[in-house]
Amino acid sequence: MLRSDAEAGLLEIEAGAHWPQIIAASNAMKCPNGSVWSIRQKQTGVDAVCLGGSISANAHGRGMLQQPLVADIENLTMVNAEGEVLFCDRTTNVRLFSLVIGGYGMFGIIYAATLRLTPRQCMVRVVEVIDLDDAMSAVYRRTAEGCTYGDFQFVIDPHDHGFLHRGVFACYKPLFDERDFPATHSDLSPQHWLELLRLAHEDKARAFQLYSEHYLSTNGSRYWSDAMQLSTYLPSYADYLENHRTTTNASTEKESLIIGEHYLPEDNLLGFMSAARAILQQYGTEVIYGTIRAIQRDTESFLPWAKADYVCVIFNLRTPHNPAGLEKTANTFRALIDATIALKGSFFLTYHRFATVAQVEAVYPQFREWLELKKHYDPSELFMSEWYAYYRDAFEQQASSHEQHQGQ
Ligand SMILES: Cc1cc2nc3c(=O)[nH]c(=O)nc-3n(C[C@H](O)[C@H](O)[C@H](O)COP(=O)(O)OP(=O)(O)OC[C@H]3O[C@@H](n4cnc5c(N)ncnc54)[C@H](O)[C@@H]3O)c2cc1C
Repeated sequence: MLRSDAEAGLLEIEAGAHWPQIIAASNAMKCPNGSVWSIRQKQTGVDAVCLGGSISANAHGRGMLQQPLVADIENLTMVNAEGEVLFCDRTTNVRLFSLVIGGYGMFGIIYAATLRLTPRQCMVRVVEVIDLDDAMSAVYRRTAEGCTYGDFQFVIDPHDHGFLHRGVFACYKPLFDERDFPATHSDLSPQHWLELLRLAHEDKARAFQLYSEHYLSTNGSRYWSDAMQLSTYLPSYADYLENHRTTTNASTEKESLIIGEHYLPEDNLLGFMSAARAILQQYGTEVIYGTIRAIQRDTESFLPWAKADYVCVIFNLRTPHNPAGLEKTANTFRALIDATIALKGSFFLTYHRFATVAQVEAVYPQFREWLELKKHYDPSELFMSEWYAYYRDAFEQQASSHEQHQGQ
């Protein structure tokens, strides 16, 4: 922690800090209203990621009325390709501020950032199992009741008539009575999560049944607004699955999950989910878990994935580590991106490199300019990633084949 302003709720912290450390540092600051400060949002599925990596991805959590992390950043201090230390905010080095946030590490090293905090609140969890047809009215109902966080975890069993349609809608509503405090801690242990993940691979119907029973049983539980955003990440789950297979015909091939995020205008959510059902069935691709959340438009970063107020649909696809398995996942994601584009949506750029140049350009028309700005700020390409190199080369190849075509 470098600096704190407990009056204004601002915390300057080094970019290597992980979220549990950031939460602890903010909780050490007393709010003028007598409560303590806390973060506004973090990623839902992982805690051991650093602030610099989170800013570089312009991450988001399960806030129902929140913009991505960019809105929570007051300023940042970075080191550019020349080794200069630069302060960036909305009035100083404005262009760099908008490029570094959501810039996937390509414009410099973030040394520190000042986070805008919010008073920590006690929240009550409100859970129901609903169909997607009701989802938007359920979201309006819950936000009108004051819920500020929430997500929808959908059925992943393709044989269930509720496939990608029925799900557990869990929301979080602030409690304002000062006697309210988190009294219940009823979340699943890592061992239970591992077992649920195994079932998601081997008995999807049972996995959803147990998951929804558990969530419904926590209806009314109370949590601090920051602690409830922490998660149980299971880095060892692939090993667990390998050692606990119960189905005799299970493949012994190594496998993992590949994630993709697709963003849709809310009116197009049902159309997208029905297209996704057809695509997953066409390719025979398995979903291991999937979530729907909400995001508000990012008006500040140069390459915003949240180009409008969207619903975010997240798929984690089971991917065997062999050419056929990878090809299946790649084709599935390309088809999902086509469906997203047809429905005026967007997708997250760096989870994989399956999107074609045409798909990237359709959603991110400023991508060529972004590549030029990368070369402008970092001419020797000191800051590199496989993702950047792949799309730099793919865009260059496309431009040169276009020129050759014109010359003929
Ligand atoms: C299990 C899991 C769940 C997730 N859930 C969510 C979610 O709910 N919402 C969401 O938005 N995202 C989510 N993510 C994605 C996550 O936000 C990004 O992968 C994020 O970049 C991870 O940060 P990291 O510290 O691991 O960064 P790394 O993986 O180390 O780096 C990611 C990028 O950030 C750059 N970078 C890292 N540190 C710095 C720095 N100090 N300065 C400049 N660039 C830097 C790197 O160069 C790289 O390009 C999830 C990821 C995982 C693994």
